[in-house]
Amino acid sequence: MSYDNDNIFAKILRDEIPSFKVYEDDYTLAFMDIMPQADGHTLVIPKFQAETLLDIPADELTHTMTTVQKVMSALKSTLGVEGVVLLQLNGTAAGQTVPHLHFHLIPEHLTKLSGHGAAMGDMEKIKALAEKISEAL
Ligand code: AMP
Repeated sequence: MSYDNDNIFAKILRDEIPSFKVYEDDYTLAFMDIMPQADGHTLVIPKFQAETLLDIPADELTHTMTTVQKVMSALKSTLGVEGVVLLQLNGTAAGQTVPHLHFHLIPEHLTKLSGHGAAMGDMEKIKALAEKISEAL
């Protein structure tokens, strides 16, 4: 499958559009979802150009999951939550809207989540949460 280099997360990786970053290393980036399904909703993406989970080599995936683990730990310690939903969609048929592999970390009970990509969040609140989470990373 051909990767769309103009998708919104590719633009975030190239700093062509702004994002609330909480963590970055050579292989991955973590930033706040601007249409959060709960407070602290964070996205982790590989820098590797993969559209779905089927398009990434195992070593790159290992780096990505290591960041998922770090961010989950930071969400738990900074927000004082007990549970984090890990969500990952593959293909438009599953509801994937951005064609760059990403992992949603949503610190809330599954039954209490707001709609997926349903409404823009409060940017001041998201910025404040990003600062808090990034301090722990
Ligand atoms: P998915 O449906 O799994 O592809 O999820 C895409 C996610 O990206 C949704 O939760 C959106 O709210 C989120 N999103 C879309 N545009 C941006 C953006 N510019 N910055 C941060 N998150 C975004």
